Amino acid sequence: MNTTTTPDETSFTGCLLGLALGDALGAPHEGKPPGMHIPDCSSTLTYTDDTEMMINLARAILECTTLSRQEIVRYFASNYNPARGYGGGTLKVLSLVKDGLQVDVAVRSVFPEGSYGNGAAMRVAPVGLAFYRDEELLEHAIRESALATHVHPVGVDGARMMALSVAFVLRGRPVEELTEYLSKKAQTPEFKKALDRLKITISGNPSPKELIEILGNSVASDRSVPTAIYAFLKHGRDFMKTISFCLSLGGDTDTIAAMAGALSGCLVKEEGLPGECLKRLEDRSKISSLAKGLYLTAQS
Ligand SMILES: [Mg+2]
Repeated sequence: MNTTTTPDETSFTGCLLGLALGDALGAPHEGKPPGMHIPDCSSTLTYTDDTEMMINLARAILECTTLSRQEIVRYFASNYNPARGYGGGTLKVLSLVKDGLQVDVAVRSVFPEGSYGNGAAMRVAPVGLAFYRDEELLEHAIRESALATHVHPVGVDGARMMALSVAFVLRGRPVEELTEYLSKKAQTPEFKKALDRLKITISGNPSPKELIEILGNSVASDRSVPTAIYAFLKHGRDFMKTISFCLSLGGDTDTIAAMAGALSGCLVKEEGLPGECLKRLEDRSKISSLAKGLYLTAQS
């Protein structure tokens, strides 16, 4: 993988803080129909499962000598707050692992075919940050982090699309080439088709309702990751515009805004994030420290 530019630390902090802000700003609107849902930074911004899992994944990357799904799921299972809006299936997997079941057995016992939800994609940004320079390490970490809970190929491919997008932005590649790049990397027919739809849609100006019909706003990986990438491609140079756009679509607003927020934050860096919102973000300094740790990991 050619590294075209060397990113600085604020791309890393921008990415993870952007993810957490998108999650916290999207959470109050989760499950609503499309409409004018305004991001509100007037009180404490509390994050949900998306950010909690991202934090646990970042810690696993920083602390484990060998990054495996067994190690990663151990971090997920020992540091989760069930009140943060986890999906029922993920909670079940984590409690089974906590009770001592092997990760692969736990995952298959809850989702016999594997989950194709966006849970692996929403938390994967730290993987894109830590391994952006090495395609092989990046691919290994994507798979291990996804397979900790999501073994369906569409669930894994969603994580691949997000982590590769973070790495692409970090390397300073032209944003307008992202969709074409992802099309070559997608491994499932579901994502190849979704990216084809994204390519056609990005040049138009669909209404929120039309966009939801074309790309989706649900918890399915192939019906939310492309939507977040669309939001980033259209508005990513303006962080709050990106988040407002995600909220206007309704549906899985916290996760779609978290994914788009991670990409936008990576592009605009920490200084491009809204200061008033950052001041009210729960665990801001913890998230920032993890991002700085990943920056050091990526340089080593
Ligand atoms: Mg959530």
